[in-house]
Amino acid sequence: MNFANLRDRAFANESLSRSECCAVLECPMERFEELSMHVYTVRQRYHGQKVSVQILTNAKSGNCDQNCAYCAQSAVSSAKIDRYSLAPFEVLANNAATAAGKGVNRHCVGLSGMRFGDDQIEAFCGHIRRLKMGTPICCSIGFVTKFQAIRLRESGITRINHNLNTGRNFYPKICTTHTYDERLANIAMLQSIGFEICCGGIVGMGESNDDVIDMLLEVRRIRPECVPINFLIPIQGTPLAAANLQKLTPEYCLRVLMLARLLNPRADVRCAAGRELYLKGHHALMFRAVNSIFAAGYLTASGEGIEDAIGMIRECGFEYASE
Ligand code: SF4
Repeated sequence: MNFANLRDRAFANESLSRSECCAVLECPMERFEELSMHVYTVRQRYHGQKVSVQILTNAKSGNCDQNCAYCAQSAVSSAKIDRYSLAPFEVLANNAATAAGKGVNRHCVGLSGMRFGDDQIEAFCGHIRRLKMGTPICCSIGFVTKFQAIRLRESGITRINHNLNTGRNFYPKICTTHTYDERLANIAMLQSIGFEICCGGIVGMGESNDDVIDMLLEVRRIRPECVPINFLIPIQGTPLAAANLQKLTPEYCLRVLMLARLLNPRADVRCAAGRELYLKGHHALMFRAVNSIFAAGYLTASGEGIEDAIGMIRECGFEYASE
């Protein structure tokens, strides 16, 4: 495989064939440095040395009626997590103040659940309207009606996270309470009313390389502004608590991130959950592909603090995007 050609295709913003995607995911160790340097030139052209940092607030936790196998908040999870309907405004305000104080680039607010009443959306929008901290807010949310989406947009949210999670063929193995096509339709509706989209998935749930490629090619077709790649953090009490994680070597995780970059050269490619678990000690290599990370934990799992994350970015020779 000519990896320089894949770099040039990324510069031309062209997609890759399945066999080219496969060559990236199966890149032998002796060619790893060569591939990662080509990916790095793509990352640098569109994002320089900058790394943006996001924080997450779980504004509604647990009690979901869906059965996503990886999720601690699902109907089939017995994980010991906090369960609450809409969090008080002060919780969001405190996190927004932290985000503003540290120059965090985005404040992502997640809500458990797949469907919401108009009254729930209105209450949430009320919180968002009261937050005037300056940090852009994005919202991780399930399926919303067009009316609800417009209300979210009017409240000041400009970007919505809605992941595909995995490839179409593997999707029924991780969730049977909604379909892949429902996710695609929701994303298309959100794009039609002007939302930026954050869309990626989770790797390490037992899927094949073909499933990862399916997912990444579908994400590429959507052309999201941000592509978050999560590596499974198995949570006790979920169906994937005992998932086989042997595949998630640092090298494999890095190859997935490099493929995500080649397919989405201009997007923010974010290494999300699992970064601290699978890529500790490999962050400098990770940043050759990735220009965005989370700090201060994930929805139901802990993570590296904001100051530590900023320090780590600098130690790797990259720049915190707020500087
Ligand atoms: S991922 Fe979202 S929809 Fe799926 S179980 Fe968790 S909270 Fe519910």
